Amino acid sequence: MILKSFRLKILIDELPILEHTKRYYFNIYGDANCFLCGVHKKVFHHIWLCPEVINLIHAHLDLIILFIRQFILENTKIHITLNEILSLGIWDVAYCDDKFIFVDLLRGFIPQLLIKHLQRFLTISQIHSLLTSIVESNTDFTKRSIWIPYCQALNIWKNDLNITRNIKRYFYRVDSFLHLHGIDHTNSERSCEGLLQFVYFSVNSFNYLVFGII
Ligand SMILES: [Zn+2]
Repeated sequence: MILKSFRLKILIDELPILEHTKRYYFNIYGDANCFLCGVHKKVFHHIWLCPEVINLIHAHLDLIILFIRQFILENTKIHITLNEILSLGIWDVAYCDDKFIFVDLLRGFIPQLLIKHLQRFLTISQIHSLLTSIVESNTDFTKRSIWIPYCQALNIWKNDLNITRNIKRYFYRVDSFLHLHGIDHTNSERSCEGLLQFVYFSVNSFNYLVFGII
């Protein structure tokens, strides 16, 4: 059983990834790149899109597509092709902040396009059942295959740099990171605006998300 708090954290971008930690320990980590690939940084999506784990994402995406097709077949006897599902345009695995991508689904957001497509074949209760299974599968995948290995690798990286708890306590600061990145509270939510038009926020969907979390 995945903890409710874990689902909420990936939904609202609150997992303690390195980029978040750097806000408080910038004097230790500096503006370091991803400790796995050594190149990327800054966006929350990178824990799924890092070149070191991207093959896992592709494999999980394939499983989700097959699961949707099989669910529709078993419940309606209707055969749909994999291409019909893939043509929805919500499965990209490259970062984009103004278009729905597969990582948004992994985080728990449900795209309108998927809901509308499923309504062609399934009843509301069947859609509810299907999406509940997908959310649970996605959360379990993120925790077991992405987050736990990420934390283990981060600890090894910190040990290699000899970053101990006492050192972190001594260097706790936030001002230098905010100053370097020009961050203030008036622009911190801007990156989500382009995504909102693609996400299903009706009463039914909200009920579904609450149900899924509990
Ligand atoms: Zn990386």
